[in-house]
Amino acid sequence: MPSKTLTIAFPAVPHEIHRQWSNWGGNQSATPAYTVRPRTDEEVLEVVRYAIKAGLPVRAVGAGHSFTPLVQTGGILLDLAAISGITGTDSERLRARARAGTAISDFGEPLWNAGLSLTNQGDIDKQAIAGALSTGTHGSGVELGSFSSALRWARLINGHGEIVEIGEHDLRELKAAQVALGTLGILLEVELAVSPRYHLAEQITYPTWSETVANWDTDIASNRHYSFLWCQGEESAGLYELPTPAGESMINRSYTKRYNAVDLDESTDLSSAEGARRDRAYRIYAGGFMIPFHELEYYVPMERGREAVEALQDLIRTRHGDQKYPIEVRWVKAEDGFLSPFQGRNTTVLSVSGAPGTNYWPYLRDVDEMLQDFDARAHWGKIHFLTRERVAALYPGYEEFVAVRRDFDPHGVFLNDHTRALLA
Ligand SMILES: Cc1cc2nc3c(=O)[nH]c(=O)nc-3n(C[C@H](O)[C@H](O)[C@H](O)COP(=O)(O)OP(=O)(O)OC[C@H]3O[C@@H](n4cnc5c(N)ncnc54)[C@H](O)[C@@H]3O)c2cc1C
Repeated sequence: MPSKTLTIAFPAVPHEIHRQWSNWGGNQSATPAYTVRPRTDEEVLEVVRYAIKAGLPVRAVGAGHSFTPLVQTGGILLDLAAISGITGTDSERLRARARAGTAISDFGEPLWNAGLSLTNQGDIDKQAIAGALSTGTHGSGVELGSFSSALRWARLINGHGEIVEIGEHDLRELKAAQVALGTLGILLEVELAVSPRYHLAEQITYPTWSETVANWDTDIASNRHYSFLWCQGEESAGLYELPTPAGESMINRSYTKRYNAVDLDESTDLSSAEGARRDRAYRIYAGGFMIPFHELEYYVPMERGREAVEALQDLIRTRHGDQKYPIEVRWVKAEDGFLSPFQGRNTTVLSVSGAPGTNYWPYLRDVDEMLQDFDARAHWGKIHFLTRERVAALYPGYEEFVAVRRDFDPHGVFLNDHTRALLA
């Protein structure tokens, strides 16, 4: 008897076949069999159920701002940009709900109108909220956790093809979902703890390294948001498009940001003066970069932060003088997520970049090796050299995470090569 081939028709959801995808930085690309742009939760569910039946892997993409191979798949790539919008706010409980594809920049005004603001934001606001949550995206401030620390509830499609809810009723699941690299399933909607709305006053200064060191503890403790970008060369600031004082050398100096909450009367007190803006929080944080770079970001316990930055400066001076991107230094409060790099420890964040098109690998490998002495964890969305063994040793919640992941997706529908190697 002739054998029959089982063919399952692809659902009637907008899609393209064999379309090449690449990330913002241009260092990751893939050609999924299907790139799908669902418009509703039902369409996402139909596609995931199709994938399970057809034996195809599925990955989601947010704004494609990760530098690591998180998004790649040869199966189905779900672009949830149309699954977007704020779905609810609660100014008493300080909560906001949004669909997974909502850009961080799209939280600002609707939340403000409800008397609310995101508690903190990072250097840019282009990421999708689900993408930001999936990798532990953060801003700076020793009293402030990452986006993931604010996750209180989520609705997602698991590897059984079911829509399930995760929330505060099951803290084990919630801690797993807070940073999950897309491996528990496809997020459809999330709820974040947020803050009463606030204005910020910006202060930008250009201290020398000895001034930065002299005020180290005070600056970290006394500013809502404190961060700096240390410049090793004259061209360093320009590589990140940082404005600097005309005619002054930036060598061994920092572009330093302080943001503090202030009461402003919007009819008289707003200011857009460069380096001294005063505005709604979301307008102060807003931003994006035009010039691509390839970034590594590692996390050391805060007690060793200064020592780690100085060791990195030495490494650059002695072995990698050709590497000119600034070192960005930030702080994040300890939090709970099993895979959160801030789990259980207040953290100093160190970021360095290489220029696209150059061989920055020896530099980044040396940074990785040097920071291992500081028990450094890594940003899941930025270049790192972590292996499964290193993750298991560095993240106390690792085994718990893997157990939850296996419950949610026993057949690995949502894994790709990168996440399988780390988390299968
Ligand atoms: C210019 C630039 C500036 C940056 N600034 C900061 C910063 O200040 N602070 C910081 O911490 N990081 C920063 N990052 C890193 C960035 O925030 C993270 O890599 C973030 O994950 C990117 O979000 P995205 O929406 O682009 O997600 P993607 O990179 O598209 O995806 C990230 C992960 O989320 C998963 N995902 C996306 N949508 C879903 C969904 N609906 N369900 C399940 N999983 C999903 C993807 O599968 C993937 O695993 C920056 C990156 C760039 C390029």
